[in-house]
Amino acid sequence: MRVSFVGKLVAASAMALALGAVAQSGAMAGVTEAMLNNVPAGEWLSYGRDYAEQRFSPLTLVNEYNVDKLGLAWFADMDSARGQEATPLVHDGVLYVTTAWSMVKAYDATTGKPLWAFDPKVPRNTLYRACCDAVNRGVALYGDKVFVAALDGRLIALDQKSGAVLWSKVVVPNQTDYTITGAPRIVKGRVLIGAGGSEYKARGYLAAYDPETGKEVWRFNTVPANPAGGFAKEGLNKAAHEAAAKTWGNKWWEFGGGGTVWDSITYDPETNLVLFGTGNAEPWNPAANGRAGDSLYTSSIVAVNADTGQYAWHFQETPEDRWDFDSDQQITIADVNIGGEKRHVAMHAPKNGHVYVLDVKTGKFLSATPWVPVNWATGIDPETGRPNINPDARYEKTGKPFISLPGAVGAHSWQPQSYSPKTGYLYIPTNLAAYPYAAAKDWKPTGIGWSIGLDGYAVSMPADLKVQAGAKAATTGQLVAWDVANKKAAWKVNLQGPSNGGVLSTAGNLVFQGTAGGDFVAYTADKGEKLWSFPAQSGIIAAPMTYAIGGEQYVAILVGWGGVWDVATGVLANKGGAARNISRLMVFKLGASGQLPAAPPMNQMVLDPPPFTGTLAQATKGGQLYGRYCAMCHGDAAISGSLNPDLRHSGTLGSAEAVKAIVLGGQLHELGMVSFKSALQAPDAEAIRMYLIKRANEDKALATR
Ligand code: CA
Repeated sequence: MRVSFVGKLVAASAMALALGAVAQSGAMAGVTEAMLNNVPAGEWLSYGRDYAEQRFSPLTLVNEYNVDKLGLAWFADMDSARGQEATPLVHDGVLYVTTAWSMVKAYDATTGKPLWAFDPKVPRNTLYRACCDAVNRGVALYGDKVFVAALDGRLIALDQKSGAVLWSKVVVPNQTDYTITGAPRIVKGRVLIGAGGSEYKARGYLAAYDPETGKEVWRFNTVPANPAGGFAKEGLNKAAHEAAAKTWGNKWWEFGGGGTVWDSITYDPETNLVLFGTGNAEPWNPAANGRAGDSLYTSSIVAVNADTGQYAWHFQETPEDRWDFDSDQQITIADVNIGGEKRHVAMHAPKNGHVYVLDVKTGKFLSATPWVPVNWATGIDPETGRPNINPDARYEKTGKPFISLPGAVGAHSWQPQSYSPKTGYLYIPTNLAAYPYAAAKDWKPTGIGWSIGLDGYAVSMPADLKVQAGAKAATTGQLVAWDVANKKAAWKVNLQGPSNGGVLSTAGNLVFQGTAGGDFVAYTADKGEKLWSFPAQSGIIAAPMTYAIGGEQYVAILVGWGGVWDVATGVLANKGGAARNISRLMVFKLGASGQLPAAPPMNQMVLDPPPFTGTLAQATKGGQLYGRYCAMCHGDAAISGSLNPDLRHSGTLGSAEAVKAIVLGGQLHELGMVSFKSALQAPDAEAIRMYLIKRANEDKALATR
């Protein structure tokens, strides 16, 4: 039965390739608006492949009948050993990819020959204000240029042929609260990008820039400014800001408000709207600054006119957010048959655990369905889409910690989803991971570190193997094929841990995904049958893509474990498996048989801390300070992931002076560990040292790593 389809598949593929070749041979040099609007079958021209961000390739040369012949065609080692989140783009035989630290590389897409490389030389001390590792998700292509947004807030235009810098501009409001990790998008000849920073004091926005000069053309701020200013600066969006200002309490603007646009940007030519997702409200804990109300336009999808940035509609998925429920996840647009009617819809699977379907033109709510266990809401109003919030989830009101499902990492984070118009399924990289929230008492803002108003120490993982085993067992991942029309899972694959890779689907009835455990896997798109896998030696978080050149189809994936799950989640960081970083671009094709060099052995460290000589009160204070200032990079309960130093193993623990020199003196500034002297004093550094020694001794007694 299967074999009889092969001829048809190959014929369709040849035709698709021919059409692609016609589009490529047009007179216009470089990437055009027409090409972005109708991507040649063999190419991948923007982050989500096309404007609709479907991440669906029409290519069928690699398909369910021959995918077992897929082998390594070429690979390239990256020169940055941190989390790799980028999707490569391919145009005119050249593959463009970014790596951690916002570096850009261009390769001959057929042979892997390096063509050029660009390093924006992001200062490594930017790391302390990047919530989630030094990651970057990719470039944009337009005309003869490549656009990359650097972690430190610069938007940079490069020459597509040489990688030479054409212009570079700081586009963030300041370089203390904002970072950029997202891929720019091209919409109607402009470069669109926002920024991250909702764990700091950022005010979210999306802006459009002239590709020739970097001049800002329009900007939509997602959070209203101080009403005393009258909102005149918002121009066309004055009314939208007047309305939003009524949904906050107290002096929200002093904290920025959050709502940052750090990932999803989707353009819909049919309606001329740009849809984008916004991040959490800031601070997470509303009581930290007296925030009250829905806090628009945070945790929302917002639609604006593509030419002017003028507000069209919004839909808030998580009102009064206090759980870090960013709505920044990729927004995918498709025509879907719902209830016997063809609807032009936006599909969204944000952190909060519900699949939303909205009408693209009006933003009208069509449905929201939980695809994972949810306990922060008891249901969704079927008319309005508004969640009924579980009173226990308002942890700042109850004064009790709340363990939320999903947690702050989200049922779905930034890892790209894919939609196949052939199956009608939305393939969602899913996390099953709870998160404990506890409001900090007497919390005061300081100028450094996360500014979220939580007490991380109160809910940090205890040194208790039984509790840890329970938490590990409950923390897993899935690849979910969501049947959009029927609002239910068509199939699921259970994965060992959370934070697996993004997804690619193809017309060859294939779905590709990499895992946290380091396997690159192909499944059938319709049934989820595992057909092929390749051991990549390192965990995968990025999404695969595919392209075709000279009658051959290639599948590419950027490998390299890291990101927020690795740096922040302590003993759970390696739940998925191979928690080590080997950063490498891998490209596969049928019949290839390339081999990777043997992986170095896993580093086994033995705990050997000095004896604990402090007081319990001192260690507790140190734990609270660690929870506030250190845990988001060095890991919950002082257990790090694979990227940042595990401080229980630090050779400086025996010396109060050495720890002070780092924590207050900024001795390791160049490596990203800046001085915290604006918030901490000498006794604080000593308390943190005592906490670390205590933790190390506890874990030594447990004989953990
Ligand atoms: Ca966030």
